[in-house]
Amino acid sequence: YSNSAVEDILGYKVKEVVGHHITELWVDDAKTSETLKWLQKTLVAGKGWKNFHGKFKHKNGTIIITESTAIPIFDSENKLTGYRGIDRDITQRKQAAEALQVEKAYLEQLFENSPEAIVVVDNDSRVLRANSEFTRMFGYTLDEALARSIDELLAPEDLREETFSLTKRVMGGEGVSLDSVRRRKDGSLVDVSILGTPIKVSGGQVAVYAIYRDITERKRAEEELRKSEEKYRTLVESIEEGLGNVDKKENFILANRAAAKIFGYSKKEELIGKNLKEFTTPEEFKRVLEETSLRKAGKSSQYELDIIRKNGESRIITVTASPVIGDDGKFRGTYAIFHDITERKRAEEERAKLEHQLRQSQKMEAIGTLASGIAHDFNNLLGGILGYSSLLLSKLPTEDANRKYVELIEQASNRAAELTNRLLGFARQGKYEVRPVDVNQLIGGVVELLSASINKKIKIRTNLCGENPFTKGDPNQLEQILMNLCVNAQDAMAGGGELSIYSQVVHLDKAFVSQHLGATQGDYVRLSISDTGMGMDEETKAKIFDPFFTTKEQGQGTGLGLSMVYGIVKNHGGYISCHSRLGKGTTFEVYLPLSKGALSQPRKGRVEPTSGSESILVVDDEEILRNLTKDILEGLGYGVMLASDGREAVDVYREHKGGIDLVSVDMMMPKMGGRETYQELRRINSGVKALLASGYSQDTAVQQILDLGVKDFLHKPFSLEEISHKVRKVLDAQ
Ligand code: ADP
Ligand code: MG
Repeated sequence: YSNSAVEDILGYKVKEVVGHHITELWVDDAKTSETLKWLQKTLVAGKGWKNFHGKFKHKNGTIIITESTAIPIFDSENKLTGYRGIDRDITQRKQAAEALQVEKAYLEQLFENSPEAIVVVDNDSRVLRANSEFTRMFGYTLDEALARSIDELLAPEDLREETFSLTKRVMGGEGVSLDSVRRRKDGSLVDVSILGTPIKVSGGQVAVYAIYRDITERKRAEEELRKSEEKYRTLVESIEEGLGNVDKKENFILANRAAAKIFGYSKKEELIGKNLKEFTTPEEFKRVLEETSLRKAGKSSQYELDIIRKNGESRIITVTASPVIGDDGKFRGTYAIFHDITERKRAEEERAKLEHQLRQSQKMEAIGTLASGIAHDFNNLLGGILGYSSLLLSKLPTEDANRKYVELIEQASNRAAELTNRLLGFARQGKYEVRPVDVNQLIGGVVELLSASINKKIKIRTNLCGENPFTKGDPNQLEQILMNLCVNAQDAMAGGGELSIYSQVVHLDKAFVSQHLGATQGDYVRLSISDTGMGMDEETKAKIFDPFFTTKEQGQGTGLGLSMVYGIVKNHGGYISCHSRLGKGTTFEVYLPLSKGALSQPRKGRVEPTSGSESILVVDDEEILRNLTKDILEGLGYGVMLASDGREAVDVYREHKGGIDLVSVDMMMPKMGGRETYQELRRINSGVKALLASGYSQDTAVQQILDLGVKDFLHKPFSLEEISHKVRKVLDAQ
């Protein structure tokens, strides 16, 4: 028998099940031998069953779980005839219970196997549950932990308050999260991050669900990182080089102190946020961007950069830049090392300048020696020509028609002598006269002279220092300096302009001297001659003092002007410098040693030759000059003896001891020079009267001989008048 519910539960019609064995409706795995045996035994014993869970197969194949209760049926003879059973479909219920079980086990596993220590405490902070990581992390067994206060278990002495209030807060419904320290059972401490959340537990109670994560490693790593960052910071800060990081638009985002210093700040914070552009001129910045493919190609590069600090100071730096490339491969900016090379650069320039000056002065020295050799020989020859022409003139009657030829010879020779004088001037061997010269007065004279002749489109301006500064020297030559410089200035201002002449008393100190080869420390009168003319390029400037260097058309310039100026300045113990730029005018600065002022002596005028009858010994190695002197002196009435060198002179003097009133000695002679000769003569007669003659200037060598007692100095070539006066002067001296 079956009721129709069988169809609801198993899908079979009543007639389909009636007559079939019950096990035929079972699923196969329910027909275990064990179950079959139990069924057999139960049936034989005639017992019933209650709440037996059976597994049936629905007609459509699904498994149906039933709960069946059966009671045996006995006939009147008390014989078991069958069972009356009720099977209820509990498939749904069973599955739900199973799912719950699985879910519970799953959660249990999550809880248990969590790598974090998890604990649940009630509102008295007593531990309700704890997972195995909790026991591992804090060293308590589960038994030791359960029902104990979490604060008691884990709070270090000084954190009681904190843990207590934490529990309170979570109980109040707040989620908390913090890093703190907890104590293990053995008393050791552990760094933990704590996450506490309120949860509902059975009975609607609220409990605290807390997760502890051991962050010892993280803390250590953080500390390590902090230390290493600290180390890098110290390194970066202590490094002498400027280090910086700019973004792709060259804004400073990082810098060390050294970098800040290079850009003129005392603190790196002042540099950060500034743009590199602010420290350069736009052209300079453009140049760097173009020259270095930094922004475009992101390539490392090193370049020099002229920067201007905020206070206006300009510096030269090198930048070694390497690109910062982002994770996306894009250019992000630049790491840069800055190096201030201003001092080095300046020193290099300084050295180059000094080397240049040295080369220049060596060149001038060599040319000078050469020029002086030629000029000196020339001078002697000219002396002969000049001397004889003046002698001839003195012999020719005033009305003689030939006088004019001689005068022409004299004129031409004078011009030639002037030229050699210039060369000698350059060779620093032509300072004839030394006396105090008022520089302002000198300028006044030259300006007066110039104003008459100068191009009317040129304005002359002077600015002279108040007190009249004196220098010692040859006024003619000093005037030549000014004239030459002014004439050059005029030539440079064909279209007009301004010529300024300044004088000033200056002191050249150690610093100046160390940077200007050839200058010596001391007080000077500085003459500045500036024009607003065409100026010069570097190449020209390097050669202007060379003799015969000229940029002027043939016939316009000799190229001797500045070489003469140079020689005269040197010869006067001075210093000359030139500043000029193409198209920007030129300034020459002439430094002449300052000397204690003295009243200018009146210049000698031309006077008639004087005569006499004393006997004179003329010593000169140049035959033509020797004979000339003899002719002149004899013409004036003197008795003349000759000697061609010092040795001969001494012999002659010894022989005629008493008969020679004056000896004229040439300074430069082979075998025995003027100085030695004079000394020998003095040995013979301590009162010997001597006159020193030389084509060289009255320089220190001459002065030394004069100091020995020689009465006067005669510069060659000399005129009839000059020699007559000197001779008379020495003879008349006491
Ligand atoms: P010169 O005047 O006969 O050419 P200098 O020795 O006086 O010879 O000058 C040499 C060269 O120096 C000149 O040819 C000229 O090129 C240059 N120079 C001199 N002074 C000036 C100046 N004030 N401005 C421009 N150039 C100058
Ligand atoms: Mg000139």
